[in-house]
Amino acid sequence: MKLAILPGDGIGPEIVAQAVKVLKALNLNMTMTEAPIGGAGYEASGDPLPDATLQLALDSDAVLLGAVGDWKYDKLERHLRPERGLLRIRKALNLFANLRPALLYPELAGASTLKPEVVSGLDIMIVRELTGDIYFGQPRGISTLPNGEREGINTMRYCESEIRRIGRVAFDIAMKRRQPGQKAKVCSVDKANVLETTELWRQVMIELSAEYPEVELSHMYVDNAAMQLIRAPKQFDVMVTGNIFGDILSDEASMLTGSIGMLPSASLDENNKGMYEPSHGSAPDIAGKNIANPLATILSAAMMLRYTFNDESNALRIENAVKKALAQGYRTADIATDGCKQVGCSEMGDAVVAAL
Ligand code: NAD
Repeated sequence: MKLAILPGDGIGPEIVAQAVKVLKALNLNMTMTEAPIGGAGYEASGDPLPDATLQLALDSDAVLLGAVGDWKYDKLERHLRPERGLLRIRKALNLFANLRPALLYPELAGASTLKPEVVSGLDIMIVRELTGDIYFGQPRGISTLPNGEREGINTMRYCESEIRRIGRVAFDIAMKRRQPGQKAKVCSVDKANVLETTELWRQVMIELSAEYPEVELSHMYVDNAAMQLIRAPKQFDVMVTGNIFGDILSDEASMLTGSIGMLPSASLDENNKGMYEPSHGSAPDIAGKNIANPLATILSAAMMLRYTFNDESNALRIENAVKKALAQGYRTADIATDGCKQVGCSEMGDAVVAAL
């Protein structure tokens, strides 16, 4: 098992170090090689995705990433900004499927801004298409019209095969998540009443659903989905949507659980090779202070064992160790409550290792 470790910027190095500590404690037969990306890549070689980093990622079975970005790079030309490194590596690895679970740990029910009865027991999986849509469609750019006025253009586009392959990921996950006696559910989110791209999205999802009679497919417009996620989030099981809608909805869903510091993510290619990273950013405001929550990154490592290495038992070991550390009262500042044992980033990593 070959793993590329890309800590990135801000809190990236601190949180990734905790996940590495947990993986090492499992004594797996895994080689880990570290390389810079994002602002760190730009500092190292003038490119947010240095060639050597990309090559390492291509040669590895999986990538564990911290986060990229810092406000100090905001004035760089667009192609040199840290976030471009991230978009490029996703594209180069053909990571078209982004899985973002939003799961509320009972111990943290009070951390959500929603009423406990609305969110307790919440367990949603958002499946977001990651390599198409308006983020990549051509033409794009800012140009000057003949009358001297500037115009910005982006293009929303999806072809049938792109929709079908992300739909398949969602249907397959729904089947795996199905509880005995319950029907697997997929809610496809679109804006088919206004956008032709997503009208096609809906048609293809309906065609695909014929292959999955065990899964109940429903459709929802994105504006309603944004509302329903806050009103009654437990109605959802698996949600599948395009790149831009998924970007927004997955962040919204993450806040149902109280802290963005708790939420892992996986991005997969067609062979389940994947890049695993926390859902949050590089949090430059708290970088270097040993106060970041490393659990989203540690849980991302668990997803890596499950989805890329097919090692369900060690994935569960990590997830149960996180639960145990929380049950023992360990909390980083972002999830701290009265009476808890407030700890720093590396101490939380130690608590998870101890609980393994
Ligand atoms: P952010 O997620 O970095 O931070 C938002 C807020 O959440 C901040 O107050 C931060 O302190 C807090 N936070 C985030 N992760 C935390 C953790 N693990 N523990 C405790 N608190 C945590 O988003 P932002 O502030 O909008 O962006 C900061 C930088 O991150 C920007 O440069 C942005 O481009 C970049 N970014 C990167 C990614 C990524 O690498 N995938 C994603 C989003 C944003």
